[in-house]
Amino acid sequence: MSDLYRCLPAVDRVLDHLGKEPALSLVPRPLLKDLVNTFLELRRKDIAAGRITDARELAEERLYVDMQAFVRAGVAPRFRRVLNATGVVVHTNLGRSLLAREAVQAVNEACAHYSNLEFDLRTGKRGSRYSHVEELLRRITGAEAALVVNNNAAAVLLTLETLASGQEVIISRGQLVEIGGSFRIPDVMAKSGAVLREVGATNRTHLYDYEQAVNENTGALMRVHTSNFRVIGFTKDVSLVELRNLADHHHLPVIEDLGSGALVRLSGLDGEPLVQEVVRDGADVVTFSGDKVLGGPQAGIIVGRTEYVERIKRNPMNRAMRIDKMTLAALEATLRLCLDPEQARQAVPTLRMISTPFETLKSRAGRLARLLRTELGESAVVGTRKDESRVGGGAFPEKGLPTVLVEVTPCSCSVDALRDALLHVDPPLVGRVERGALCLDPRTLEGEEFALVAKAIKAALIGPDSEFSF
Ligand SMILES: *Cc1c(COP(=O)(O)O)cnc(C)c1O
Repeated sequence: MSDLYRCLPAVDRVLDHLGKEPALSLVPRPLLKDLVNTFLELRRKDIAAGRITDARELAEERLYVDMQAFVRAGVAPRFRRVLNATGVVVHTNLGRSLLAREAVQAVNEACAHYSNLEFDLRTGKRGSRYSHVEELLRRITGAEAALVVNNNAAAVLLTLETLASGQEVIISRGQLVEIGGSFRIPDVMAKSGAVLREVGATNRTHLYDYEQAVNENTGALMRVHTSNFRVIGFTKDVSLVELRNLADHHHLPVIEDLGSGALVRLSGLDGEPLVQEVVRDGADVVTFSGDKVLGGPQAGIIVGRTEYVERIKRNPMNRAMRIDKMTLAALEATLRLCLDPEQARQAVPTLRMISTPFETLKSRAGRLARLLRTELGESAVVGTRKDESRVGGGAFPEKGLPTVLVEVTPCSCSVDALRDALLHVDPPLVGRVERGALCLDPRTLEGEEFALVAKAIKAALIGPDSEFSF
């Protein structure tokens, strides 16, 4: 065993060797040294554990190949592009919405140059960052005023803190939603300083439940969109219009957390309220996400009556949740596209993916399957099958979007091994494993990505070494 240890090269010798590699020449020397030391330490552990027993496994040329791969992986950016073949459009773990080309350009422009972020070009004096999107949001939603913050969780917290801190907020038991990632309405309410006053039952809440709960310490009535679950069967909800009447009677604001906040009608997803409808039906303050089915950047959007939105804007907490200039640029560009719903359905990736027709998906699945058969040859069996895609992001949980999947069944390894190997190729590919096959949904892959998908699977099937050949 001690002979095996002696086969390992000295660190300086390795550094000299790797330093000559053009691909590694820009790696800072201390980082390179750390990675080499870690690599050699792992080999020593392999020897100690009896995983390496033959000196040939430690031959220099072989060691250098592995070490290069290790170093490259060690210096590669951690936050990187991934191929989403899951068919989940607003995939929370894979970055939710992709930006439209126009929005990407706006981000580039905003961060490469100075801008009028808080500078009024008409007066030459200090301006407001919110003004860039406020008019657009008013026009699209019909609301009197608008404000944008970092995300919708912030929008809800800020709204409650401003309008109802120290007071009771009445909400139906059926709407005490948990969104995931620890966003729960009762917890957010508690953090805002508002007191949760839940009424009704899980499945049924009546107008009289709200009516009986109103008292001199009531600060607001709230509705929360049950984005990610449905209660079916013997159910009853109080409509916004009914709640509006009650609120008017007691001079209370109605807050509606819409969650997804669609601005554009999408076929197959009707029955979901658009933001403009909720505004029209009388919500005083509506909050929604920028990167769910709006299809823009991560942001929380607050629209509603001027008296309330102005108070929210002036809340010192707003400063801590402030939207940054890149987000603002992307949001403005996305909203401009939404001025024309038809244009938005074409240009905004989330909307385009959700509304891709079945026939288009079928022919794209056929094209991807043919490409994979050519590229993978004998190493896998490729087929197609009808299935459903999901909107994701906790939106429309019960609505499947008809699609055609490409199924890849590897011939010489398990499908789980293929799925795992695909996480280590470049770019990594995330699909679904179902019915013993790796399933790829063309809905969330751009046409230009098919070649990358084929390369990724080929690399994963042929082995980790091949990954560096492309
Ligand atoms: C998603 C969601 C949120 C949180 O929005 P983020 O943009 O993720 O902060 C809040 N409320 C509802 C109803 C949601 O669906």
